[in-house]
Amino acid sequence: MVPIEEAHRIVLERCRVLPATEVHVDDAIGCVLAIDAEATEDVPPFANSAVDGYAVRSADTVDATDSPVTLAVVGEIAAGSSGDESVGAGQAVRIMTGAPVPDGADAIVMVEDTTFTGVRDVFDGSQSVLVHRSVGSGSAVRGVGDDVRRGEVVFTVGTVITPAVAGVLASINVRRPRVVRRPRVAVLSTGDELVDDGSPLRRGQIRESNKIMLFGLVANAGCTPVDFGIVRDDEVALEQTLRLAAAECDAIVTSGGVSMGDYDVVKAVLSRIARMEWMQIAIKPAKPFAFGSLTRRDGRDVPIFGLPGNPVSSLVSFELLARPALRKMAGHRPEQWDRPRVMAVAETGLRRQPDGKVHFQRVISRFGPDGRVHVVPVSAQGSHQLAASALATGLAAVPDGFGVDVGGDVEVVLLND
Ligand code: AMP
Ligand code: MG
Repeated sequence: MVPIEEAHRIVLERCRVLPATEVHVDDAIGCVLAIDAEATEDVPPFANSAVDGYAVRSADTVDATDSPVTLAVVGEIAAGSSGDESVGAGQAVRIMTGAPVPDGADAIVMVEDTTFTGVRDVFDGSQSVLVHRSVGSGSAVRGVGDDVRRGEVVFTVGTVITPAVAGVLASINVRRPRVVRRPRVAVLSTGDELVDDGSPLRRGQIRESNKIMLFGLVANAGCTPVDFGIVRDDEVALEQTLRLAAAECDAIVTSGGVSMGDYDVVKAVLSRIARMEWMQIAIKPAKPFAFGSLTRRDGRDVPIFGLPGNPVSSLVSFELLARPALRKMAGHRPEQWDRPRVMAVAETGLRRQPDGKVHFQRVISRFGPDGRVHVVPVSAQGSHQLAASALATGLAAVPDGFGVDVGGDVEVVLLND
């Protein structure tokens, strides 16, 4: 059996980062920057008000702490107006959040610290405002470039474009960031027993569940899943589908047919048309795992992840081996390939028997009163019992032996994004 670390190393060594491309920032969430993002504009581009209030000369307000100061209101500036007004001694301009600070003013008094006298919206010189608080120069003024400076490298290569990062890119007018191409990943399941059209089950048939699960897992990993359907246990059909998938996608994820059974056609076909490693990994679940690549007509190698058919095994195998590789291909930094791990407290015993494997027990995790993550196993640990494992939030790596006692430490792979 191959240790999981060794399988991980083999897979990651053979997967390459995809080429860079430009995408619209709207479509870039989850992609990774392929170049540094340098700002060509200041943010904010002009000094503006942080509050709704009055733009004033701060020197005019120094006495306001003792008794209110009266200033003549000579205009109003809303966000979006050019703010060509100017503020002279003894004057104020009503100003809204985000509006440009007018010439002459060096501070904003927030509206809560003022009393307006006169008719709102008419500024004929007869309106005035009582200022109840003195403000220092620069008060409530957001300076040019105090979020981002022109010329600054805001994000470096390898930064993941989260929604907030996309917002920043938009704020500096990067509309088509250069990113590592999002991997297109073919997902297919194999097996004569699988049904996915809602029809009544005949004896021997089961409903397909891996493909829909893997489709979602691929998407969660930041890739674009492409559905290649259910392929029957038929070598000709499977070869055709695999070749098509390789021609159209950057990677292929299959489920089923990689064990030792007579109808494990994935094994038969891939052994013939691809360069594969057939591994028995020293873990439970997900012992059988196939990894390799199919060379396309254009000479490019397309990685193939042959996951086991048992649904929980498929899930664990994807998480531990396929996901990190896909994230490497998508340009993520090495520290972002794998899910985070924490040393958690076993809230109940995590029992097992020695068998030379690491058992990845599916667990529910929560924060304990001691500030540490605590875990309890899900109600059933069979590799076919997806219903129990579906609600797991972690995989507890229980080392070979008799398990972890109540209150003992266990390393947990956290599955939630
Ligand atoms: P296999 O690896 O093809 O021998 O399949 C192992 C087990 O997983 C069998 O019980 C299959 O019926 C089941 N299985 C395989 N593929 C799927 C799938 N796509 N959805 C649900 N169960 C599956
Ligand atoms: Mg099968």
